[in-house]
This record gives sequence, C-alpha cells and structure tokens, in this order.
Amino acid sequence: MKAAVSVDDLVREGLVDAAEAPALLPVEAEFRIRVSGAMRGAISAPDDGVGRQFIPSLQELDVKPEEMGDPIGDDAHSPVKGLTHRYPDRVILHVTKTCEVYCRFCFRRETVGDDGHLTEAEVIAALDYVAVNPAIREVILTGGDPLVLSARRIRGLVERIAAIPGVETLRIHTRVPVVAPERVTDELVSGLGSRLTTVLVLHANHAAEFTESARVALRRLDGAGIMLLSQSVLLRGVNDSVETLEHLFREMLRCRVKPYYLHHCDLAKGVSHFRTTIGEGVALMKALRGRLAGVLLPTYVIDIPGGFGKVPVNADYVTPADAPGAWRITDWQGGVHDYRDPNR
Ligand SMILES: *Cc1c(COP(=O)(O)O)cnc(C)c1O
Ligand code: SF4
Repeated sequence: MKAAVSVDDLVREGLVDAAEAPALLPVEAEFRIRVSGAMRGAISAPDDGVGRQFIPSLQELDVKPEEMGDPIGDDAHSPVKGLTHRYPDRVILHVTKTCEVYCRFCFRRETVGDDGHLTEAEVIAALDYVAVNPAIREVILTGGDPLVLSARRIRGLVERIAAIPGVETLRIHTRVPVVAPERVTDELVSGLGSRLTTVLVLHANHAAEFTESARVALRRLDGAGIMLLSQSVLLRGVNDSVETLEHLFREMLRCRVKPYYLHHCDLAKGVSHFRTTIGEGVALMKALRGRLAGVLLPTYVIDIPGGFGKVPVNADYVTPADAPGAWRITDWQGGVHDYRDPNR
C-alpha cells in the first residue's frame, strides 16, 4: 500500500469525509501528513487507536498559550548542528527530519517533515564533538526517524560511531519496525551491528500497530542481538485506559520488546486534545502496578518544558502545587519548575 500524504489522499482512502476535507486544509498547511502503507492497513476506523494518531483533526488548529515550538528544549543544548548534549554521558544526534508517518501529537512537529538529512560534513562535525568529549559513552540516533536513511548510509554512520573509542552504546529511537517494517531488511540489520551494544527503542502506542510484518521485523532485530526497548506516549483517546495499556505492553513483550518509557504528552502546538492530566497518568500507572509483571511496566516520565530534561512522574520529582492542576517539578539538577495540566 502507498503512503497517504495529503487530505485528498485520506479522502480517497475513506479515512476523511469529503465534506470535512476543505476545513482540514489549514491543518495540512501547518503540519505534515503521512500515513504509511502498514499503518493504513492497521486502521479499522478513522477514530480507532491507530487512526487518531495519524489522521489530522481540526483540534490541531487550537494552539494553547502554554504550547511551544520546541517543547523539550532540544535547541537550548545544541553545541553542534544536529546534536543535543543535555546529560553528561549521552548525546542525541538528529540525523534526519523525515519520518515514515507524521504523528499528530509529535513533540518535534514544528521541525519534522522538512526534507533533508544531516549532510556528510555535518555528521562528521557532530561526531568530532563526541570524539573530543570522552565523557560521552552513548550516541542516540533520532530524527525524525533515523531508519528512513538507506541501509548503506546507516552502515557508514554506525562504523563511524564505533570508531570513537569512548563510545560504548549505540541507541536508535525509531518507529520504523512497526510503521514501515519492510525497511527492516537483512542488509539494514547487519549494518546496525558493530562492537557497540546496540539498543533499539521502538516508539509504539497501541497494540494494533503490531501487525504480522512488524512482528517479523522485530524478530529479525532481536535475532541479531539488538536489545529492544520501547517508548510510548500517553494519549487521550488512543491509549488512556488500563486495558489498552495492558494490551500494548503485553504485545510488546511478546515481541521481546521491554517497555521502557511512557511519556506524558509534551506541550507541542495544537496537541492539547491528546494530553491527559498528570493525575490521570499517575492513576493509570498505579492501576497497572500489581496487575502486570514488573518487566511489563515502563517508567512514566515527563519532559520538563524548556529543556530541563525528563524525570519520572512520582512524588520524588512531581508534587502538587497550590491550585488544582498545578504541579511543581524538580529536574535532575535540583531546579524547580511550575507545570499546569490542560484546562478541560
Ligand atoms: C531523552 C533524552 C536522552 C535519553 O535519556 P534516557 O533517560 O537515557 O533514555 C538523552 N538526551 C536527551 C537530550 C534526551 O532528551
Ligand atoms: S515518528 Fe517520531 S519524530 Fe516522526 S512524527 Fe512520529 S513522533 Fe514525530
């Protein structure tokens, strides 16, 4: 199946009513649309747990005052183009701005979709920075989605990173094994191997994303000795129930993916309809504890708006402030920040 990349395509696919299409054009102008063939196949109805993640809605035009272009503050910690160095022992490298799907809640929605991968020269400059900073033990490839690059380019990148003596771990943040499993070829998988410990962190939010082809892709990655972890975003209307999350985490483990993080939905623009309150997230995690084996439970985390990093949502870091829906969040360095739940 071909990817749908416009409101027109979505009308043709029966995912958007023709009558609603004109009103959605301003959304298309603001935020890129792309539903991969695999995800098109996983959608049974436009408002199901997969459909809502990718089909644009008018609510995206409702930008709240607290929402930001760069909600997690990647730009505030970027010493070299494409590189974010927030924590001493690890860096993230944004190798591309392209993805196989454009998620409607994406925290980088202001920057993804611009064509263009990091150039060869930019990659070399970023890795030079890593090489002269021996405290860095891990390079995290992200984007966009790093696995949209060709298998040949990925192999070259992995070889370059493995050649830096201080680096021990290569991490890849990707949605490809579920949204475009056909990209997980033997050539790609062999190119990911090196002397490094390779960790693939799969972004998936609903059990229905795990199609038969996705399972095959994950088996192939697991068979190559790649550690598989996951990250999910807690999304209203998609996975904000105990049953849906249980189903998701059990499906992950069946595919040998250990649930790692459940992210509180970031303050990206036009995303408030997806955002739960912190109290709702905490209640869901409490309900899952005990019901699910510990190995199935991710850590519920929030990225503190403005670039202060992420912390677990628990009483050590996140405490109620004096007004309803107001919270005080302590970052990993001891700084204290105010946070407010969406109004509803
Ligand atoms: C999330 C993030 C990481 C990875 O953090 P872990 O807690 O190790 O998963 C690294 N660098 C930046 C800038 C991040 O936002
Ligand atoms: S795949 Fe990741 S980076 Fe790309 S749109 Fe979705 S959340 Fe954003």
